[in-house]
Amino acid sequence: MDYDVIMIGSGHATWHAAVALLQAGKHVAIVERDLVGGTCTNYGCDARLP
Ligand SMILES: Cc1cc2nc3c(=O)[nH]c(=O)nc-3n(C[C@H](O)[C@H](O)[C@H](O)COP(=O)(O)OP(=O)(O)OC[C@H]3O[C@@H](n4cnc5c(N)ncnc54)[C@H](O)[C@@H]3O)c2cc1C
Repeated sequence: MDYDVIMIGSGHATWHAAVALLQAGKHVAIVERDLVGGTCTNYGCDARLP
């Protein structure tokens, strides 16, 4: 398969860019070396909504 964009890492930055590219009809591949979702989803974010 051919891709228009290949992104390295699957964190929030990639997610937002990938959604916009998909909505524009682009074929996107994401290469992730650890858990899909990145630091915030899997390890990081500790913010709590009030
Ligand atoms: C303890 C902690 C608490 C946090 N709490 C908050 C919070 O409360 N609120 C908030 O807004 N932010 C918080 N953050 C920050 C937040 O996690 C980051 O700002 C956010 O994850 C950055 O997103 P990103 O997509 O740039 O990178 P990341 O989410 O780090 O994603 C990068 C991805 O790329 C992958 N990757 C890297 N190199 C390669 C490679 N060579 N090949 C393949 N894959 C690769 C990594 O495995 C990772 O999955 C916290 C961070 C930490 C560590």
